[in-house]
Amino acid sequence: MNVELVNTGSELMLGRVLNTHQQWLCRRLADLGHVVTRQVAIGDTGHEIQQAVREALSRADLVITTGGLGPTSDDITRELIAELLGKKLIENQAVLAHIENFFARRNRPRPAKTSVETFVPEGALVFLNQNGTAPGLAMKIGNGSWKLGVGAETSPPTISHLPSASPKWLVMLPGPPRELRPMFDDSIAPWLKREFVREIFVCRTLRTTGVGESSVQEKVESDLQPLVKAGLEVGYCARPGAVDVRLTASGLGAEDLVRAGEAVARKNLGATIFGFDDDEIETVVVKLLAQKKQTLALAESCTGGNMAQRLTNVPGASAVFLGGVVCYSNAAKATFLGVRSASLAAHGAVSEVVAREMAAGARQQFGADLAVAITGIAGPGGGTADKPVGTVFIALASAGGVAVRRYLNAWDRLTFKEVTATQGLEWLRQLLSA
Ligand code: ATP
Repeated sequence: MNVELVNTGSELMLGRVLNTHQQWLCRRLADLGHVVTRQVAIGDTGHEIQQAVREALSRADLVITTGGLGPTSDDITRELIAELLGKKLIENQAVLAHIENFFARRNRPRPAKTSVETFVPEGALVFLNQNGTAPGLAMKIGNGSWKLGVGAETSPPTISHLPSASPKWLVMLPGPPRELRPMFDDSIAPWLKREFVREIFVCRTLRTTGVGESSVQEKVESDLQPLVKAGLEVGYCARPGAVDVRLTASGLGAEDLVRAGEAVARKNLGATIFGFDDDEIETVVVKLLAQKKQTLALAESCTGGNMAQRLTNVPGASAVFLGGVVCYSNAAKATFLGVRSASLAAHGAVSEVVAREMAAGARQQFGADLAVAITGIAGPGGGTADKPVGTVFIALASAGGVAVRRYLNAWDRLTFKEVTATQGLEWLRQLLSA
């Protein structure tokens, strides 16, 4: 089945809003066995929306539009699509009751402008919006029953121009993510499962860290070749401090192909794999800390709390993470962690000695089993010949003493923080999974 997305909104074209629907819907649809074949984003103008939908319908079996269903003057998707398909807009009593109820529950009068949302194209399936007012809509088009109305094009294609006369579906979803996402999960996904045969599609992502993208590819490429010939698709995705290897296959035998590919990748990439699919390294670390009954404290300088922030995103972190200090200045390192002034003066804040004292200090202050300390030069200024920009010392304190590793992370500041925090987390992961 061919699926296309049309994301509408002038804010997308002006770069004011990140088009998260594209990624979110592609992922959800792929999980349902429908890989999106094409996606376009367009502004809120009549001509563009009609043209994009017309083109998408000429190729795809399912077209999903997002945005432009609200009550304001720039929300014109519903009207334009009805016009394109030659459908009348008819007031829908269920939508009217839903909107009345929506405002009554909030003790607010219903704004007159919301009336426009109660009108839906004739024959459309209606999905009530549990988190807003504009309903989602689905329209079956095809078998000669649809015709294109007065579009912006002078001579619109008719059904006879379509490559296939089998029915197609056009689904319209509201723009706000907090409305679109629950509507998709609660109503659209179950409807898709009923309406379309699920294609067999298997996807496995192995997440690695500590190795560059090309090295990851070199390690697996040739051994995966026979499986690629048999239909396995292999993709690589580099992120700050991590590289994902994506193995996908479709059709009969897809499960076996992906399983065989995973076995090869796991053998060749070994301990550089920290997880799979949606695993984050911090999630893995929190799980390992809990399993090993270890507590953790942090002393972060140049990462500014990035490691603590990521760890505390994980549910259950409070059971293992005691706390951290963002000790940016020398005075903070001395006052809160007991780093000696003599060490700072003799070796500088970015040094093995200071990293060691920071980790020992954090471990002691928090009474933790383990402590990680990070000190480095994020740049762009501050580098020297022996400690260039990007130099980082990470120390790990445990009952057995303190160890220090030196890295060179020559990236922009934000990437530097992300990569450095990942290295701290990875070291913990290695220690805890040893
Ligand atoms: P509303 O009732 O809020 O007008 P709508 O269905 O008309 O809803 P839009 O007006 O197109 O939707 O978008 C509403 C808001 O939803 C946008 O301002 C934006 O913040 C968010 N939004 C829209 N499209 C996207 C997208 N593709 N990715 C992320 N956010 C989006």
